[in-house]
Amino acid sequence: MFTVDAGAESVVPNETPVNSQFHEQKLVEHFCRQTQLLKLVEGSSGRFVANYRNTRRPEDLLAPIQLRLDFDYVRLLEISPKLLQLIVEEPLQFQEAVRYSVYGLVRQHLKDAGLKPIDINQLHAHWRLVGLPLSPGLQFEPRDQSLRLGLSQVQGILAAYTPQETLVLQSIWYCGSGCMRNAIQTSSTDAPLCSGCSRPMSEYQKLRVTESYRILAILPSSAVQTPRIKGCLHRPKLIRLRAHAHDCELKLGSSYLITGYFTGSSTTYQLEACHLRGI
Ligand SMILES: [Zn+2]
Repeated sequence: MFTVDAGAESVVPNETPVNSQFHEQKLVEHFCRQTQLLKLVEGSSGRFVANYRNTRRPEDLLAPIQLRLDFDYVRLLEISPKLLQLIVEEPLQFQEAVRYSVYGLVRQHLKDAGLKPIDINQLHAHWRLVGLPLSPGLQFEPRDQSLRLGLSQVQGILAAYTPQETLVLQSIWYCGSGCMRNAIQTSSTDAPLCSGCSRPMSEYQKLRVTESYRILAILPSSAVQTPRIKGCLHRPKLIRLRAHAHDCELKLGSSYLITGYFTGSSTTYQLEACHLRGI
């Protein structure tokens, strides 16, 4: 759980990026400026500004800014092979670079509009790497126990999936006892205690941001092509697929190419899809 006071003070994140992280953020920013991604960022922060100007409600300054950024493989090759290399080798580091870089752009946009910066946890910048062809070097090969730590690809047949489950991305809280304090949580829906008066806080229900996801079981294509090999047990690869990571429908028995990366939390260590497409 991550809690932060979104009070009157400016809410710049605590972490001071070191030089290389700064360089990575600049690579992302450069790519956004060279493509239509900057327009998407400005469009989202523009809607945030317009909404606040319409309502003038203070809680609307705690609203989320959500956007999906597609990093196109061919454009990456043209504009920034270095950024492509970062995505492939260090997807989690790239994710952080996207977060801070887009936050910088949004902050500047809000400043130009005369608004205070938002908390970085109000920003939900989902990224996808689209158009990456099947790359044998990235393929997840359970037989060889070869587990890439960077970006991986899994190609195979959708054997099963779980019902949709809900992921809470942001919940916003206020203290009803008159202290005028707010809090943002990024994963929990349990009421936090007010940092001023220690009473449980109340939620702005309308500002809750969720996303659905499923866990997919992907079998290697060989499980269907040569089903009668003796002594061979095919085990599916489990992958978490969030709603933003795909546009196509999921059909049992169809073949898909999934690009993803391993992400760890306190309870799981699983492959997280950053793009799924049918093949
Ligand atoms: Zn309070």
